[in-house]
Amino acid sequence: MRCVYPRERREAVTTPLEVEIRRIIAVDGPMPVATYMALCLGHPVHGYYATRDPFGGGGDFTTAPEISQMFGELIGLWAAAVWHEMGAPDGLALVELGPGRGTLMADALRAVRVMPAFRAALSVHLVETSPVLQHMQHERLAGSGSPVIWHRHVAELTDAPMIVIANEFFDALPIHQAVRAADGWHERMIGVGPDGALAFALHPDPIRGLDAMLPEELAAAPIGSLYEWRSHEDIVELARRLVRRGGVALVIDYGHAASAAGETLQAVGRHAFADPLAAPGEVDLTAHVDFAALARAAEGAGARVHGPIGQGEFLRRLGIETRAAALKAAATPTQAAEIDAALARLTGGGRDAMGELFKALAIADPKLGALPAFDS
Ligand code: SAH
Repeated sequence: MRCVYPRERREAVTTPLEVEIRRIIAVDGPMPVATYMALCLGHPVHGYYATRDPFGGGGDFTTAPEISQMFGELIGLWAAAVWHEMGAPDGLALVELGPGRGTLMADALRAVRVMPAFRAALSVHLVETSPVLQHMQHERLAGSGSPVIWHRHVAELTDAPMIVIANEFFDALPIHQAVRAADGWHERMIGVGPDGALAFALHPDPIRGLDAMLPEELAAAPIGSLYEWRSHEDIVELARRLVRRGGVALVIDYGHAASAAGETLQAVGRHAFADPLAAPGEVDLTAHVDFAALARAAEGAGARVHGPIGQGEFLRRLGIETRAAALKAAATPTQAAEIDAALARLTGGGRDAMGELFKALAIADPKLGALPAFDS
């Protein structure tokens, strides 16, 4: 989970990516926050994900599938139930966006071993830009018994009925930021400040037409308010495919259910918050997912949206408590305590757990009826 521990002071270092970013700013002037975030995460040589495995105890942060096998197992069983609702089509693409270490998919495929018809109908499609993580996913899934195909972009996916899983994928996609002034919303940029360090600055001209695009909630935002948004290219592409060929996309991420003003851009390195401008390429950058905006984009492309519901509620409806009890029955006392701790972390409320902060949203072919866990 990218909600972490105490703040840590970092010494200023100039990373190789910062050198490159300064070169771009020197030529083109300040860059939008979205361009900076895309470079920090996705630069092919110096980008955060291009160069490392950020997960787990030795890494920068942890995620739900890395906390417990229960998470991927229950999502695997959910996918099998959805496939039945879809009429059990052959040639199903089981897609994961941003699969990290491949843990969720490995746990999901193991859990559905007891459903040979589902296993036989599916091939696995992973959308991943990081070569380091692609390699880890390859190793992790080599013995899974399912064909696995990699893609770099959603637009490259095969045209087939799909079940898509995206855990902590959308929070890593670049955000734009804008600040309201008397004459409109100005895009927030990154340039070089008077002290020579990278610094935020506002574009001198307001963004034309942004007011018309803003959600109603933002119409009365006071001067000084900050608004964040993402490109919805991927979600619109997925929604169109789901409407055309059938299927569902499950998005699990941290964020807010209603669009609102406020800054959520956050940098994390070595399990501690960091300054987003201090070490570009060396720390993870994420921002809350605006579930209302995601839902509007999917509905605009003809899909039906279910949820969002809290991650805790979603996992409880899928039977996480029963699964935890079954695992504990065969565990040592130490392992049983770990299972309890994982269960609390995945489903609990408040800022230190993921159960409420993280939400699950399903984007579905409107021809499908009720979805397991969302409408039951
Ligand atoms: N789902 C995993 C990993 C989440 S981290 C888990 O829950 O553990 C984000 C993942 O998205 C990483 O695998 C990262 O390499 C990938 N990623 C980030 N931006 C991407 C992009 N634009 N296209 C494809 N994959 C991306």
